[in-house]
Amino acid sequence: MVNKKKRILLSSPHMSGNEQNYINNAFEENWIAPLGPNVDQFETDIAAYAGVKGASVTSSGTGAIHLALDILRVRRGDSVFCSTFTFIASANPVLYLGADLTFIDSEVETWNMSPVALERALANAKKENKLPKAIIVVNLYGQSAQMDELLEISNSYNVPIIEDAAESLGSEYKGKKSGTLGKIGIYSFNGNKIITTSGGGVLISDDEEIIAKSRFLATQARDEAPHYQHSVVGYNYRMSNILAGVGIAQLQVLDERVKRRREIFDTYYQELSTIEGLNFMPELSGTKSNRWLTTLTINQEIIKLNPYEIMDKMNTVDIETRALWKPLHMQPLFKENKFYKDKENEDAVASRLFFNGLCLPSGSNMSESNQARVIQNFKKIVQGK
Ligand SMILES: *Cc1c(COP(=O)(O)O)cnc(C)c1O
Repeated sequence: MVNKKKRILLSSPHMSGNEQNYINNAFEENWIAPLGPNVDQFETDIAAYAGVKGASVTSSGTGAIHLALDILRVRRGDSVFCSTFTFIASANPVLYLGADLTFIDSEVETWNMSPVALERALANAKKENKLPKAIIVVNLYGQSAQMDELLEISNSYNVPIIEDAAESLGSEYKGKKSGTLGKIGIYSFNGNKIITTSGGGVLISDDEEIIAKSRFLATQARDEAPHYQHSVVGYNYRMSNILAGVGIAQLQVLDERVKRRREIFDTYYQELSTIEGLNFMPELSGTKSNRWLTTLTINQEIIKLNPYEIMDKMNTVDIETRALWKPLHMQPLFKENKFYKDKENEDAVASRLFFNGLCLPSGSNMSESNQARVIQNFKKIVQGK
């Protein structure tokens, strides 16, 4: 039977309605170009929300990572460490700068960067006299990495951490907002993220010099002079005043969005966690995940289906599900790069997660009846009925 109900998507933009007011204001005052009152307010609002000294909004999260690396003086031939279990956008800016990437495995408690693998990688790098200029730690699907442990290790080698919190805006780590633990943090406002400006990002830090530098580099690195004068390479990465208006209104509903995503997770958990062979992404004690996407792993010996077979079956009933991020050390682009596993004599944790994991529809605008439809179909499929 053909299913005529509307397709249920993984995570789609969820507007509050208030965005239009800020856009209209920008039009009325003709503040269309980059910079302007919405940009200033959005930066102030984000910094206040995260509890940091400053924020510099950008045209994308990827751009914000690029700026962060540049500010930490990553140059051609330098080394940068990065979580392997992530979206390619975490690592691409390292390539833009001509630096070398080394990937670090996940650990089972958070699915994020393994402190023991990081320690081993840093010890080796020190021996080779090639410590990285920065470590990009990713907080995947809303879950914070083990930041205390990672910071203790990185501090002992004097290497700064960039927190890629693109997916963890609104999450908390031991009472602090996710993204504020490293030297620099970044968030993304891409269309599928927990709040969106259609496209955009932000760099945050407690170091005001870093924020000033980010704004400078993001607007073509123009020197103070009566003409156009430039002493260093810059970028065109600033967010437009119109999109910043969308961001102001979206930030006002962020806590509601987190609440709704966590409810969606709780409902999935209640309905599905008793099925043998399904394991949900854990939440480290002392942390609060925004549960951007509900993710789980499938024990294929019990369920007898791999994630792709489940995805195909869900597709036939018009429900979008997705594989977990394919680890970067497994990408053809990075086949020559160094990689440090969590446990040297076992398969990589990130690879195991990738081979067995799945994301379920988790949009904060998904109705209860639609979630019930996801659950009903998913149950049928994994229970072979
Ligand atoms: C979305 C995302 C980014 C990039 O953000 P854009 O705004 O799309 O450039 C970076 N890292 C992770 C982990 C992401 O999920």
